[in-house]
Amino acid sequence: MLKRSRTYCKMASKKLRVAVIGAGAAGLCAARHILACPDAFLPPVVFEASDQVGGTWVYTEQTGEDAEGWPIHSSMYRDLRTNLPKEVMAFPDFPFDPSLPSFLHHSDVLAYLESYREESGIQDHVRFRWQVDDVRPVLGDQGWDIRATVRGSGSTHRVSEHFDAVMVCTGHYSVPYIPPIPGLDSFQGCLLHSHSYRCTEPFAGLTVLLVGAGASGVDLALQLSPVAARVVLSHHGPPVCGLPEDVLQVPRLLKVAKETVEFRDGSVLQPDVLIFCTGYRYCFPFLPLAQLGLQETDYGVGPLHRHLLAPRHPSLFFIGLCQLICPFPHFHCQVLFALAVLQGRCRLPSAAEMEADAQEQLERYLREGGLARHFLKLKAQQWSYAKELAHLAGFPPLPPAVQAIYEATRARRCHNVSTYRDTKYHLLGPDAWEEVQDSGTD
Ligand code: FAD
Repeated sequence: MLKRSRTYCKMASKKLRVAVIGAGAAGLCAARHILACPDAFLPPVVFEASDQVGGTWVYTEQTGEDAEGWPIHSSMYRDLRTNLPKEVMAFPDFPFDPSLPSFLHHSDVLAYLESYREESGIQDHVRFRWQVDDVRPVLGDQGWDIRATVRGSGSTHRVSEHFDAVMVCTGHYSVPYIPPIPGLDSFQGCLLHSHSYRCTEPFAGLTVLLVGAGASGVDLALQLSPVAARVVLSHHGPPVCGLPEDVLQVPRLLKVAKETVEFRDGSVLQPDVLIFCTGYRYCFPFLPLAQLGLQETDYGVGPLHRHLLAPRHPSLFFIGLCQLICPFPHFHCQVLFALAVLQGRCRLPSAAEMEADAQEQLERYLREGGLARHFLKLKAQQWSYAKELAHLAGFPPLPPAVQAIYEATRARRCHNVSTYRDTKYHLLGPDAWEEVQDSGTD
């Protein structure tokens, strides 16, 4: 018989006070569902370092640090259109405005999150300009002490508070990852990470080398090709289909010198600008990971039960660590699972079993040829994952149409990265949908 987690059993008997760290999509989702269970939870406290909800979707022209010296969180660029259609981006219980096209400008997503916040009554529970600095478990499973810095006008002060549970919703697209490439320090041209890219104008007439062909690398190639003198995309994957003909695709970057760069095939380029579209690092400076039985790993942080729960502290949850998913529906499932655990509606194995299970899952992934750093990239696995959370926690699974539209979008994008956004999807029911060419009018 499985040994049950002590913390989890004890918690089911009183109204819990939950801290939500971050008011992006994941934090708003957590707050909405906590508020929806007033019998089990006190209203949440949502700590938000900035002065706005929306996280990633808050566009600012600023890069680096803000006027008060705080790092800019969002990596949003001015002309971004979503790479998923709104039909699969939406939280399952909150559709987008039907009059909008399927692929949205980022400002429509922020407006959507603002209405989600309003409809859910979250606003009064968000503490803006409160940055969480420290999250400590109180000895004997007695909850959590959270310390935060409160940014006033011209001054800051520190505050400490106690909570029964914590949901970490701080995102993972803010701290740039730049691979160690020999000679990079000597490069005398302009060097930036896509985190600090905002618009095309500064690159007009220049030779731009984009490193990495993930969502941002490809998007930037599409945006920059009409204005730059030359756009070169360096990556190690199969050729990206549908890029403008003047975008040159070259192999991986091998080394960098003062003015030139060399690729794996020996070819050389003299770029004016190098933009690293090489992804981000997971970063939890406020968590004493070792004390929690966790550690930084190649893929982020672990071991975690079902990619979200700290086995030795089952009242600490990470919402939204996974990648290559439908983010908002995924957050929805993780939040409902976490709340079911806290309410005692979802049985957990013992800490040792959860750790062993997480390790076994990683080993299986590696045996099947996966690279450790890609462990949280769920792709097709996201559907069984979401289904399992729904089954365990007793909430309705995601509608099959979400999976079908997501996969149709991926296939279209693989076929042609320039045209896949010209499609409009119509959800006709949980299981029924159709796609049409988007003429811009309905
Ligand atoms: P975030 O949106 O990053 O929010 C985290 C919040 O936590 C922020 O408000 C931050 O200020 C706050 N915070 C951080 N640390 C602290 C702290 N210590 N104390 C207090 N507050 C803190 N997804 C899609 O579905 N479709 C797309 O088309 C799409 N395009 C994208 C394009 C780009 C350029 C990027 C970067 C991401 C894109 N995504 C897209 C993924 C997107 O990040 C997720 O959809 C989602 O918005 C992430 O939400 P989050 O709440 O996890 O994190």
